Amino acid sequence: CGIVGFTGRREASPILFEGLRRLEYRGYDSAGLVTSTGNQLHARKKAGRLAELGKLLATQPAPGCHGISHTRWATHGGATDRNSHPHFDAKNEIALVHNGVIENFATLKQQLQADGVQFRSDTDTEVLAHLISRFYRDDLLTAVTAALGLVKGTYGLAVMCRHEPGVIVGARFGSPLVIGIGPDGHFLASDATALAGFAEKVVYLNDRQVCQIDETGYVIRNQDFDTVDVP
Ligand code: GLU
Repeated sequence: CGIVGFTGRREASPILFEGLRRLEYRGYDSAGLVTSTGNQLHARKKAGRLAELGKLLATQPAPGCHGISHTRWATHGGATDRNSHPHFDAKNEIALVHNGVIENFATLKQQLQADGVQFRSDTDTEVLAHLISRFYRDDLLTAVTAALGLVKGTYGLAVMCRHEPGVIVGARFGSPLVIGIGPDGHFLASDATALAGFAEKVVYLNDRQVCQIDETGYVIRNQDFDTVDVP
């Protein structure tokens, strides 16, 4: 339902939490975030009000200057801690948050399970993490673009990878996403209102575009829908 990401020269989790708070009015049933320090990812997620995530963060802070966050309005899978976003691939290398619905998730999930992938949630979203992991070599933007070639449905997406500290990849189709440019770094959000006072300028992504932000800049690319095979 709501997405906020930040990468830059400030502690991420307070920015993410404040951004999610501003998107609360849209409704949600769970909330979560993941931040990074070096090659380590720190995920915290909780069903219920944002205050529940706040309590968790008070006892188990999520350190680092890079992170993505989400308020979930469940469409597939109950409103539980384990179905809350972020979701991960089996190796815990890829973390992502997603708005929207992956319409062909059941088919993709069956294929992945037939290949031995174990799922840890009942969401449609989790297939994205496993697919991106399949395509990942050393470039998250390329892997996300390739994975989305197999997906039918709607998405606003923010993705991080353990091996690319400070990089956040975004994508949209049928669910809004904006890039925010601020004095201390770059942002992603499903709604520009989350970034008021943080970002000096926002750039709206179009459907079928993917983007990458890091501390110093951003790039936007058109999704390449040429046929791709699962490696
Ligand atoms: N379909 C996803 C889920 O149920 C995302 C829902 C949302 O947009 O918050 O987890």
